[in-house]
Amino acid sequence: QEKDVRRKHIRLHMEGALTARDKVGVQDFVLLDAYTSESAFVDNLRKRFSENLIYTYIGTLLVSVNPYQELGIYTVSQMELYQGVNFFELPPHVYAIADNAYRMMCSELKNHLILISGESGAGKTEASKKILQYFAVTCPMTQSLQIARDRLLLSNPVLEAFGNARTLRNDNSSRFGKYMDIQFDFQGIPVGGHIISYLIEKSRVVYQNEGERNFHIFYQLLAGGEEERLAYLGLERDPQLYKYLSQGHCAKESSINDKNDWKTVSNAFSVIDFTEADLENLFGIIASVLHLGNVGFEEDDQGCATIPDTHEIKWIAKLLGVHPSVLLEALTHRKIEAKTEEVICPLTLELSVYARDAMAKAVYGRTFTWLVNKINSSLVNKDFTRKTVIGLLDIYGFEVFDKNGFEQFCINYCNEKLQQLLIERTLKAEQAEYEMEGIEWEPIKYFNNKIICDLVEERHKGIISILDEECIRPGPATDLSFLEKLEEKVGKHAHFETRKLAGPKGRKRIGWMEFRLLHYAGEVTYCTKGFLEKNNDLLYRHLKEVLCKSKNVILRECFLLAELENRRRPPTVGTQFKNSLSSLLEILISKEPSYIRCIKPNDRKEPSELWIIMNWAQGKEAGRQSKVAVGWDPKHNHKYKSLCPDTWPHWHGPPAEGVERLIKYIGYKPEEYKLGKTKIFIRFPRTLFATEDAFEF
Ligand code: ATP
Ligand code: MG
Repeated sequence: QEKDVRRKHIRLHMEGALTARDKVGVQDFVLLDAYTSESAFVDNLRKRFSENLIYTYIGTLLVSVNPYQELGIYTVSQMELYQGVNFFELPPHVYAIADNAYRMMCSELKNHLILISGESGAGKTEASKKILQYFAVTCPMTQSLQIARDRLLLSNPVLEAFGNARTLRNDNSSRFGKYMDIQFDFQGIPVGGHIISYLIEKSRVVYQNEGERNFHIFYQLLAGGEEERLAYLGLERDPQLYKYLSQGHCAKESSINDKNDWKTVSNAFSVIDFTEADLENLFGIIASVLHLGNVGFEEDDQGCATIPDTHEIKWIAKLLGVHPSVLLEALTHRKIEAKTEEVICPLTLELSVYARDAMAKAVYGRTFTWLVNKINSSLVNKDFTRKTVIGLLDIYGFEVFDKNGFEQFCINYCNEKLQQLLIERTLKAEQAEYEMEGIEWEPIKYFNNKIICDLVEERHKGIISILDEECIRPGPATDLSFLEKLEEKVGKHAHFETRKLAGPKGRKRIGWMEFRLLHYAGEVTYCTKGFLEKNNDLLYRHLKEVLCKSKNVILRECFLLAELENRRRPPTVGTQFKNSLSSLLEILISKEPSYIRCIKPNDRKEPSELWIIMNWAQGKEAGRQSKVAVGWDPKHNHKYKSLCPDTWPHWHGPPAEGVERLIKYIGYKPEEYKLGKTKIFIRFPRTLFATEDAFEF
């Protein structure tokens, strides 16, 4: 009788958990009734959002809708609430994802990964910061390791200052991709970290679209920098005075407080072990970029470029530790190697402008890499050899503007690759597992974006290869000839269109020099103008020589003499990016993943895609089951077998039969589970957690 009462308790508890709903909407999409529609799915999202419930689960994937306001849900007491609590016991939260990854890492000693995706402005960077803060507050800590923790936290404002900028989509848009390992020792104490950065959008240094800004650091330095520092750098406070800061006409953006941010960044620098000499060199470079932007050229009678006012040149020469006349010559001339000697040719005005901008971009881009390395050396902890890590991936999100160029092409390609990873590791892997376990399932229809990844990156055939071919081809290759090559080679691809194909009514026509890719997240029309130049990313040898000999220590580390000796052509930007993404994917694949999908409110495209994931997680048709699967192995079984008199204390029959006996006894309904060859698939994670809780009765 006692057993019966106990069984009833278990059942009731499970049912309670299964029907538990938030005040509005369900907190896990998997709990929406079966056979529901996509609009019900979107409705649920909307209902919750209107109550400021921005988080919802799809099984174990967290959906986060950007609230664009402070919600007071990131307090220390909230963090403590989520600590060590089962995933589905509390309302969905980014802390639950962090805590789950942390506990799994500690108990299984496996490396984990939190993959955050979503379009630009959806809240990826914010989510990654919340996760880092969660670890900083909740993980055990020793006095000696506090500095490591603080450096991990403060690496963020520094990298954001140099790598984020205002775009039309997001006031704090990440213009580089960031993968960060947080390293933990065997006690779960964060002991260090490592950051890898991906392709920073250098073109922003010299040009911004209307309504956009350059990287934050320039404005922060001008607004917050100490008087003496600015005087030493030869800078004025007003950003409008600098060409590189004023093209977007929004240097002073009310939502951004550059002066305050400067304080945060300065403080961060001191914690991350930057010396005054480092800062002097670093800001010397930042200031010289601003001076460089103001270098004006004129044309002489022969059509050669001259620099009539050398005021800026003097400042740059001083700050970079180079000779002014050498710099002046390198900005207006080019060294060409003839058979036996070097010939110095004057540049046209147009080419001088190109050389100047190339120098600004190269200097900024390489300084950014230096900065990441410097931060890494302060995050290294050699005392701990055995470490497990939680990786955090926060990249630039998918973006579409009125005009999209090479940068958007790279950013959106990167997003395609991540989407591909998500598909491979969730939908595809899941279905492969059903097959292996002999579970009946109906394949779920989803769009596999591999076809788009291939279109971009396939060797010899993809867009990047075609672009590279145009870049190295002898003879006059232009952005237009590149487009023609594309038309010729991939023109018939289902996800590619060029101007020849007039779109159906209502769709924006593709203009001259444009091609359109049908991305997983929507159509984007790219203008090929600048593709060749940006892919080549050529810095004249003459300027390189000047920079290699600079007395600025940072620059000397960035421009090594060895580079001048190496006459081989470096890989193009597109190819480098493709290769770095492929190594990123290897890093990601080697870790146990958790997913966060950030979305912007009012976006019409996202729910469809989430809807597929929801369908997958929910297992709409009979036979398709959700993510939670319990193996037959004794490690798990010994725990549950105490719940049933037939299996307790020993079960001598075949394991599968024992498990079936057990779940029948505790009353799982047929639609709640499916038995595989080596696993039981439980449809609702809650069912399993309720079973877990039953131990307490
Ligand atoms: P990008 O791809 O352009 O880098 P992103 O996905 O990283 O975009 P975020 O910078 O994280 O986007 O978010 C944009 C802005 O939205 C933030 O600056 C912040 O104002 C707001 N925001 C995002 N998430 C939250 C949140 N959880 N709570 C409050 N505000 C948020
Ligand atoms: Mg971001």
